[in-house]
Amino acid sequence: MPDDAVTMDKIVSLCKRRGIIFPASEIYGGIANTYDYGHYGVLLKRNVVDAWWQAMIGDRDDIVALDSAIIQHPRTWEASGHLAGFTDPLVDCRTCGQRFRADHLDAEHDVRCPRKPSVLPGQGPDCNLTEAREFNLMFETTIGPVQEAGSTVYLRPETAQGIFLDFKTVLGFARRKPPFGIAQVGKSFRNEITPGNFIFRTLEFEQMEMEYFVPPDDAHRWYLHWLEARMDWYERLGIRADHLRLRAHEQDELSHYSSATSDVEYLYPIGWQELEGIANRGNFDLTQHAEHSGEKLEYFDQQSGERYVPHVIEPAAGVGRATLALLCDAYDEDDLGGEARTVLKLHPQMAPVKVAVLPLVRKDGQPELAHEVRNLLRRRMQTEYDEGGSIGRRYRRQDEIGTPWCVTIDHQSLEDRTVTVRDRDTLTQDRVAIDELPDVLAGKLAAPWTSPKLAA
Ligand code: ATP
Repeated sequence: MPDDAVTMDKIVSLCKRRGIIFPASEIYGGIANTYDYGHYGVLLKRNVVDAWWQAMIGDRDDIVALDSAIIQHPRTWEASGHLAGFTDPLVDCRTCGQRFRADHLDAEHDVRCPRKPSVLPGQGPDCNLTEAREFNLMFETTIGPVQEAGSTVYLRPETAQGIFLDFKTVLGFARRKPPFGIAQVGKSFRNEITPGNFIFRTLEFEQMEMEYFVPPDDAHRWYLHWLEARMDWYERLGIRADHLRLRAHEQDELSHYSSATSDVEYLYPIGWQELEGIANRGNFDLTQHAEHSGEKLEYFDQQSGERYVPHVIEPAAGVGRATLALLCDAYDEDDLGGEARTVLKLHPQMAPVKVAVLPLVRKDGQPELAHEVRNLLRRRMQTEYDEGGSIGRRYRRQDEIGTPWCVTIDHQSLEDRTVTVRDRDTLTQDRVAIDELPDVLAGKLAAPWTSPKLAA
């Protein structure tokens, strides 16, 4: 278990208090495993997604972007194996009517009997569980006004299949040859019935998936490459290395299509859990879709005359799980001269707001100068203006959302056009000339960073 102050309850309550992430449909009592992202949550999530695109297509030349449809032809899921095999084993309790994952009825998963929470489902005096049945996780809907045979479609349970369906089209216009990748970010949907642990497991969630197509003989080498590249990426987000690990799947854990899979895991307050899966999918998907569609999904090398079905390495990450890992890794509590403070020590590049501009008082021309400073900064970085409440309370508010710098305008600012820059982590306050402020802050933002929680 983590050794710091963070617990899942504290994260949930901070997120709700500051409107970062909160239960969806709350006025109707909420809906299971479904959350909405408020202003700061959207900004934080966007930083995660931007960092992923940067790593995939900004920093490399061998990957192209795609945004495929959520509802695809239903035969997609026949070919991919999802219709037959994307299931969880479930049991129902005839007494309380609750449904449980049959493979999660152990102490490790912490699922409790609703009538007697001190015991596991099935162990209470009145528990009466059914046999396990396989339950498909895909959400079904229909196309057209009438529900008739052949009109059933599915909300995608992963973004990857859209990439395989478009393989041939993308190959045609992207002017790439293996090794090359296709990357996409978008919503996926799974009818998960298990308790969610906040945004760790939700019914709808955003995935960041990349399918990397390689010559068959090179697959293992590229698998190892992506294991390393993806671990590096999480460290570059500022997540502490000792809270990250790679866990290779055992042979009996592997999906039917995979010859090797490893999970990037993070030490959440609920223990080590999957952040991202990196799989060597072989040629399973392209072969399946070629068989079911009748289209040839292969690569023909004009120079060598070689023709082959590329193998695929897939790093598949969840935006919500990365966001939750950032929140957990950054959460801290400290004592400021006898006053408790909650602070998110986020990597400045990940912080929803980079700088808050705060006039010390709401008079004497300070708000006007503060607006001028805010306008100077807003095109360079996400900036916020706040004049409500004591300066201490405003600092606390910014600390709670992880704003790395607060710029304060005081009476001296009006005399000599300097401001103070307060650092969230060191709490130092430096005087900086307004004219130099944008460059000073941009320099801080670009500087190397490690979590101050490491030194603690
Ligand atoms: P788990 O074993 O936790 O159910 P998985 O192995 O089924 O996850 P994948 O199919 O490999 O997950 O999906 C890739 C990534 O998508 C996961 O590593 C995770 O980050 C994210 N993800 C999958 N299911 C969910 C969900 N229900 N809610 C939030 N994120 C999810």
